[in-house]
Amino acid sequence: MMRKFVFLFLIILSTNIYADIIKITILGSGTPRVNIDRFSQSILVEHKSDKFLFDVGRGALLRLSQSNIFPHEIDNIFFTHLHSDHILGFSDILMTGWIYHRQSGLNVFGPKGTRNFIDSTFKAFEEDIKVRSMAPEKLDKNNLQTNIKIISDGYIHKENGLTIEAFSVKHEPFTDAFGFKISNNNYCMVISGDTTYTEQVLEKAKDCDLLIHEIAHASEHTLNKYPKAKGIISYHTNAQQISKIINTVKPRLTVLNHVLSLDGTSDDEILKEIKKNTSHEVIIAKDLMSIDLKEEIYIYKQKKL
Ligand SMILES: [Zn+2]
Ligand SMILES: [Zn+2]
Repeated sequence: MMRKFVFLFLIILSTNIYADIIKITILGSGTPRVNIDRFSQSILVEHKSDKFLFDVGRGALLRLSQSNIFPHEIDNIFFTHLHSDHILGFSDILMTGWIYHRQSGLNVFGPKGTRNFIDSTFKAFEEDIKVRSMAPEKLDKNNLQTNIKIISDGYIHKENGLTIEAFSVKHEPFTDAFGFKISNNNYCMVISGDTTYTEQVLEKAKDCDLLIHEIAHASEHTLNKYPKAKGIISYHTNAQQISKIINTVKPRLTVLNHVLSLDGTSDDEILKEIKKNTSHEVIIAKDLMSIDLKEEIYIYKQKKL
């Protein structure tokens, strides 16, 4: 009898410990560039039984499938901004989730322009929706309902002990581009979204456990030779800026995502450049990399590509 009691106690104790874990899976660590190993940006955040997608780039649904998650399991999507590489996979989640019998509507949180994007997506799939609503499929149109929340700087969403706060970042010429601070009672993380160096990230990520930040790189030679490269890098964050951000924020771990290497510089070379100026823990994201944010941070791979 006593033994049974101890056993139950241990189970309850460990459930409490694990309840606060925030699990992150990088579904796409890339950019608009077509790369079978590096899909465009999408980050899955799991907390308790809730799942949140931050951006839905190309192939997000395929990566979810590789992580053993069905399309209808996703019901909360946050957009950092409306560049195509962050929203290309949306219609796949929306429409395929419907075929998989999503029961509740999809909640989408995004900058202004999001409503137009979603309305237009429905318009584009009008014929499909008409046909699938009829026999033999008879899918329920009500399950396609989408709840759209237009977000602005400081917007806060709370769900089951998790707080998600939107903050403005600098990704001109976009006027509405956001990063997200995600936290529960014990842990805190920031997703920068697409941005150049901005004080907002420093402020929000201060004392956070995990920083997922974008990175863009081009050599001096490339920047001098191609003015367009210089233009593109100007609204992203380069290696020197990343080192400075990490040294100020001092997160337990920094994961560099949205890896834009304009001249083919390798991940290792970019990392070497950054590590010249910082001794903090920093890695470059790969697709299907998972991170368990808890007392110890665990980094592992979901599945072999
Ligand atoms: Zn992007
Ligand atoms: Zn962008």
